[in-house]
Amino acid sequence: MDKPGIKKPIGSKLFVLSGPSGVGKGTLREHALSGLGMIYSISCTTRSPREGEREGTDYRFISKEDFNDRIERGMFLEYALVHGNYYGTQSEDVRAEMRLGRDVLLEVDVQGARQVRRVMPSPESVLIFVAPPSIETLEVRLRRRGTEPEDKIQLRLNNARAEMEAIPEFDHVIINDNLEQASSVLRDIVLENRRKHEMTSSEKVKI
Ligand code: 5GP
Repeated sequence: MDKPGIKKPIGSKLFVLSGPSGVGKGTLREHALSGLGMIYSISCTTRSPREGEREGTDYRFISKEDFNDRIERGMFLEYALVHGNYYGTQSEDVRAEMRLGRDVLLEVDVQGARQVRRVMPSPESVLIFVAPPSIETLEVRLRRRGTEPEDKIQLRLNNARAEMEAIPEFDHVIINDNLEQASSVLRDIVLENRRKHEMTSSEKVKI
């Protein structure tokens, strides 16, 4: 039997970052999470690479046939059709890291976050919504980014309005108004969830 007060190995968590396209999830993740020992899970997508995106670093760019084949083989923890393209997280990518006791971070849309919550309930999964200060700010950011043609911008803005309605389903909301502040909130969320887990583990041992 474990001695009182001795901590069991800390279980890992799946942090899920969601929010409208253009809200700055990627920048926020890179800025906030370096040095926190978090594994970022690289999604598969049927979208074509944008200029500067790298295979295996930004996404695994695969064909629709390949994506369908992976769906049929049950390889995805979650997947969704987002703005006309498929995106998905492979189960084994996540579970292999979690088995090693590592925390994993996903960047997925709201449909994906819901699926994760079903297969991995709280507290193992932590759902974080990154919101823009307003839809108008998001529109400005999407145009400034310049990666999408006008019709795609309109599609992303319409989806953003729908996604914002899902905020109550999330454990935490971060308004990405200022990168420094938003990063510090995200780091705090991660550290707080780890700390809570440590406390629960040590209390369980005491009982
Ligand atoms: P983008 O095309 O701008 O890279 O991504 C479009 C949207 O797809 C973003 O909201 C992004 O979070 C979401 N996304 C990226 N990877 C995944 C994934 O593996 N699963 C799901 N459900 N959504 C994803």
